[in-house]
Amino acid sequence: MTTAAISDQINILPEVANKVTANMSPPEIVRWAADTFGPRLIMTSSFGAESMCLIHMATRAIPDIPIVFINTGYLFPQTLLFMETMRRQYRLNILEFHTEHDPIVWLSVNGEPDPRTRRDVEACCRANKNSVFDRAMQSLAPAAWLRGIRADQSAHRSQMQTLEANRRTGSLAISPLLRWTTKDIHQYMRHHDLPYHPLWNEGYTSIGCNPETCTRPLTAGEDSRDGRWSGMDKKECGIHLDQGAGI
Ligand code: SF4
Repeated sequence: MTTAAISDQINILPEVANKVTANMSPPEIVRWAADTFGPRLIMTSSFGAESMCLIHMATRAIPDIPIVFINTGYLFPQTLLFMETMRRQYRLNILEFHTEHDPIVWLSVNGEPDPRTRRDVEACCRANKNSVFDRAMQSLAPAAWLRGIRADQSAHRSQMQTLEANRRTGSLAISPLLRWTTKDIHQYMRHHDLPYHPLWNEGYTSIGCNPETCTRPLTAGEDSRDGRWSGMDKKECGIHLDQGAGI
């Protein structure tokens, strides 16, 4: 497909496709995306707490769907072990993308003396997550990508549509789980006997990088993403924003 054709598609499809998929369940949306985009459909996953829910739906539709995994270099060892275990257990086609620099050296030359914290989370997310994501999407050039975000995770996400034209990647961003609640996710996980990330039992309901400024376990009464960049205005690493790191 030419760049112009993709451009036409993302101009037209979101309005039409949001109507077409409006009454579909998440597995039906995934199936529709697989039928519509075929081998030009990919997905992203952080292999976080509930990630196996969308991976299960996607691999039922396309068993070898490319699963983009962004490795910032600062992930929990439990995440890497979980990802490798799932890769083998479910024969997942995981495409792992890394930074082109050494992540430890990056800290020392960018004014970050303590690897357990970050002074400048925007600079770190930009260099170690968003630039890697952009390179991954440029090299794969998908027509559409599945992502696991949900409306109840933040005020920003509550404003999103299930299908959105993503100018940054030149593709359609599809969020099949957008209208599902945490309860819906857990019901699906239980019904299909899917494994959770090992840190989920320790209160990590949203799992990103391991610095304590970036991910901490929840305390009673907090929302699922309150443990991310706790105490800061930052709510997103940036890969789900058209403009990159920023809120
Ligand atoms: S989440 Fe934290 S450690 Fe990970 S890239 Fe962003 S600022 Fe850096």
